[in-house]
Amino acid sequence: MRQNAGYYIANTLKREACRDFFRSVETFRFIISEVRIKWLPMNEFTIQTRSRTDFINIDRLVAEAVREAGLTDGVATVFIPHTTAGVTINENADPDVTADMEMVLDRMVPWNGGYNHSEGNTAAHVKASMMGSSAQVVVSGGTLQLGTWQSLYFCEFDGPRTRQVWIKGISTE
Ligand code: ZN
Repeated sequence: MRQNAGYYIANTLKREACRDFFRSVETFRFIISEVRIKWLPMNEFTIQTRSRTDFINIDRLVAEAVREAGLTDGVATVFIPHTTAGVTINENADPDVTADMEMVLDRMVPWNGGYNHSEGNTAAHVKASMMGSSAQVVVSGGTLQLGTWQSLYFCEFDGPRTRQVWIKGISTE
């Protein structure tokens, strides 16, 4: 008798757990049917850097790529497919800011530092990793949502070179 009661309770709990599970599946289905996430085709553009170290404002080019991709609401990822260049978001009002960033990075990672890498551009590799190879920007109403003083900067550390910038959008309209 005690055993039967145990089975009864176990089966009831199992049934309830199943019901809860299917209820949560339904809820999940509802949520994903309400949020339409769409990957947009990747866009890219080329830029020419002018010196070994170069910070280039790419707001306009990224905004164009976002428009071409048809992204009006969502997130844009700006990706740099290089190992000696990166991307960062920083102040666009006073050019001394990027000049100071260059000075600080040079102090931290001097070009000649007794490194092992035979290509001789270890400093550029290290600085690229310090800046990072991608940045995300929220897009709303077709406009990049950057703060008043913020801009996207392509960061060259082994120029001058011709470089690529890739833009991939996720639309949440
Ligand atoms: Zn190298």
